[in-house]
Amino acid sequence: MIARRKLLLGGAGALALGVGSCSTRRWWLSREPAAPPPVDPQGRALWVNWSGLEHAYPARRLAPASEAELAAALPQAPAPVRPVGSGHSFTALVPTDGTLLSLDRIAGLVSHDARANTATVRAGTRLSALGELLAGVGQEMPNLPDINKQTLAGALSTGTHGTGKGIKALHGEVTALRLVLPDGKIAECSRDQRPELFHAARVGLGAFGVLSAVTLQNQPLVRVRKVVKLVDTDWILREWPALAEQHRNAEFLVLPFTGKSALITHDPTFDPVKPRGPDADSSTLMDLKRLRDLFEFTPDLRRRAAQQAMHGLPAEVAVDEGWKLLSNERPDRFKEMEYHLPIERQVEVLREVIRRIETDAKDVFFPIEARIIAPDDAWLSPFYNRESGSIAVHAWYREAHDWMFRLIEPVFREAGGRPHWGKLHSLGAAELGALYPMFSEAQAMRKSVDPAGRMMNPFVRKLFG
Ligand SMILES: Cc1cc2nc3c(=O)[nH]c(=O)nc-3n(C[C@H](O)[C@H](O)[C@H](O)COP(=O)(O)OP(=O)(O)OC[C@H]3O[C@@H](n4cnc5c(N)ncnc54)[C@H](O)[C@@H]3O)c2cc1C
Repeated sequence: MIARRKLLLGGAGALALGVGSCSTRRWWLSREPAAPPPVDPQGRALWVNWSGLEHAYPARRLAPASEAELAAALPQAPAPVRPVGSGHSFTALVPTDGTLLSLDRIAGLVSHDARANTATVRAGTRLSALGELLAGVGQEMPNLPDINKQTLAGALSTGTHGTGKGIKALHGEVTALRLVLPDGKIAECSRDQRPELFHAARVGLGAFGVLSAVTLQNQPLVRVRKVVKLVDTDWILREWPALAEQHRNAEFLVLPFTGKSALITHDPTFDPVKPRGPDADSSTLMDLKRLRDLFEFTPDLRRRAAQQAMHGLPAEVAVDEGWKLLSNERPDRFKEMEYHLPIERQVEVLREVIRRIETDAKDVFFPIEARIIAPDDAWLSPFYNRESGSIAVHAWYREAHDWMFRLIEPVFREAGGRPHWGKLHSLGAAELGALYPMFSEAQAMRKSVDPAGRMMNPFVRKLFG
């Protein structure tokens, strides 16, 4: 997000300070959600995901220190066995009252091939640690998501992606996997070895076994120039196809009710390093919230005040290695729905999403995010055989998000969108089967590796049928 403390604090922004958030109605609507008890009546400790939307009281918690330990423990572990990464998925993929399995101790670089630019990495490695490990051997992942707190296994398992014309999601660069199957056997898979399991488990939702190691096709380290600038939303909606072609990585965040968007680009450069400044996204976001609090029922004033405060803001520029710039801190918790649409429908759908929010969801203040992702061939990849334009909507963790399902999801679905597996959606096996050409093959493969359904919690069961 465009990150300027100055953003709404000058000019009309000052109006918003103090007064805005005081109304009783807003206080009531934005109050802290009730926290589940830290321990259940059986004395089991609470697990809660990042957004606070999902929680569970697992009977067992396992954190094996090696693949061999994992393989020995898995067949005996009380079901449902659910692998957990860093708990950053919004959907109920992880909750279990059986076994919660963390790979936090199975992390780090196993080996690398300097000539081929490949690296084999233990699956519990966090993306934040991986950036530095790969840089140490002169490599980087071709792309990264908006944050780097995820584990590699967790990110791959839900089809986590960044943005860029011709650049695949993270799983699109996986060349081999090691998977501990529910019976404790270890499967090595790639395009040549057990290719069907490879195609199913690359985006596997933790339903085909537990990933223990992954081989990645990386690229040599590249220095990039990151530019964040405010533009008119009307302009970017017209120019987006051309902009996506011009930049290595391009995305934009529509700031609803302002007529403005933040365009973020990354391009290779030989410019001298200019490290990124301190992260001010959080204060900008809270400024947008104050504007909403004050002007929710007068959209014209809200737009004019925002535009006055944003007028003349300079672009933000940083130059550094990509792994230091592509991901951000997101200290403010939120809830998110993201669908991946056929690229040719993205702008038209985005226009309708903005229209619906600005007409019927005036309390929204979080940006709407648009990105672009290249096709790949993993069976459960939302990008399976199609170039995609993604659109994501967000709500602050303290505020209602039912509008996403009511107002926005039908638009995504009408356009043939496939939901991000880790973000909010309402689909089950019947709808997913119609969206994924290889869905029944994936269902059959899941059944063959886990006939007793030991890795299925209720949410995963709904997805696979
Ligand atoms: C602030 C924020 C920003 C985000 N930004 C982006 C973004 O830019 N792009 C994007 O695409 N997504 C984004 N996401 C979504 C996020 O990348 C995914 O939900 C991702 O799956 C989270 O990874 P995790 O390590 O937290 O996994 P978890 O959420 O803990 O688990 C996700 C899935 O992985 C499975 N899993 C975990 N470990 C293993 C294993 N070893 N073997 C097999 N299965 C396993 C789990 O069972 C589960 O099904 C964002 C989420 C948040 C909260």
